[in-house]
Amino acid sequence: MLTHLECTRCGEHYPADRPQTVCPKDAGILYARYDLDTIKRTFSSARLAGRNPTMWRYDAVLPDANPVTLGEGFTPMLSSREYPNVYIKDEGLNPTGSFKARGLSAAVTMARHFGLKKLAIPSAGNAAGALAAYSAAAGLEAHIFMPKDVPMANRIECDYYGAQVTLVDGLISDCARKVAELKNSDSWEKDGWFDVSTTKEPYRVEGKKTMGYEVAEQLGWRMPQGIIYPTGGGVGLLGMWKAFEEMEALGWIGSERPRMISVQSAGCAPIVKAWDEGKSSSEMWTNAATLASGLRVPKPYGDYLILDLLKKSKGTAISATDAEILDATRHWSKVEGIFAAPEGAASLVAYEKLRATGFFKAEDTVVLFNTGTGLKYLDVLDSNPVAAKPTQSAKPATRQIAGIIGPY
Ligand SMILES: [Zn+2]
Repeated sequence: MLTHLECTRCGEHYPADRPQTVCPKDAGILYARYDLDTIKRTFSSARLAGRNPTMWRYDAVLPDANPVTLGEGFTPMLSSREYPNVYIKDEGLNPTGSFKARGLSAAVTMARHFGLKKLAIPSAGNAAGALAAYSAAAGLEAHIFMPKDVPMANRIECDYYGAQVTLVDGLISDCARKVAELKNSDSWEKDGWFDVSTTKEPYRVEGKKTMGYEVAEQLGWRMPQGIIYPTGGGVGLLGMWKAFEEMEALGWIGSERPRMISVQSAGCAPIVKAWDEGKSSSEMWTNAATLASGLRVPKPYGDYLILDLLKKSKGTAISATDAEILDATRHWSKVEGIFAAPEGAASLVAYEKLRATGFFKAEDTVVLFNTGTGLKYLDVLDSNPVAAKPTQSAKPATRQIAGIIGPY
């Protein structure tokens, strides 16, 4: 039912039967488009009951290819103990411990479908681990470019999955530059290389959109009043918004939409800054620094789409400091029994701030995304003095580094 790809800037259509990157005319992000009228006639949301509890249960609205799957998606929607109308969508239970599994399951599925061989990715950490795992499952080569101070788990998992890892002295934007250099080499096309950077190929969004389908299905096809989403590249926001539009066209939901909230780290908040200034795109954030490594994205490629959907949904963008994030990580663990990734715990910081200002009321149903498991950040949490209890023994001096991960 996948009919074509459509540029999100100029609306130009491109064929979906071959690998595509971004719009050749204006570098806009390409979205997969489906024959939703036919799907509406031949498939209904009631037919989802009893299907496999993975994101591929929504294969009616995904590309028709043999999935490379490790059981990703359909993660728990947990009721908060602390706030009766809050749900925590726990993406930490995905394969590789983060929401990145969804996008990379879809992207690697399509890469294998198109016969690509070598997949390159610049990553802040968790996308690298996911690409490495799905490439291993597909029998493809993964080439990872990530900052040298990523959490230890990201580095080790990529190594174990058999990926080629290049550690870069810089941020994800510097890693992206390394991948761009590779593209100029003679072997790029000849050897079947492909760049699976966030939003620079059309299918990671397709994987991530399943979060939107799940929110609706798990809440009984009711939309919440709000969704709070930790935003690095912001693909999940784009994907969920796309899912809501598709579901409305399919008659699965009405025209109601949640207010979409982007939460970023105060140490790297390009979307928050652009939102506050009323701009339609972001500027490169300089000297990005935060222990929430997944939020160290100085300029999301999909910024224009993120800012547009925040506006359309009457949402907002809000930042959380590292100290607030660490407090929230500990608080969620203690109060909810959820050991979240620091990025995920930022959702709680945002929720509490938005409750304090009256943006959300106690009776509003709000879904907070925990994007990953805290188990992937043990070194980050252990080496951060803000989170340490006074009774803990002192760490070696080389690990006493605030905010950023220590050396290995
Ligand atoms: Zn275009």
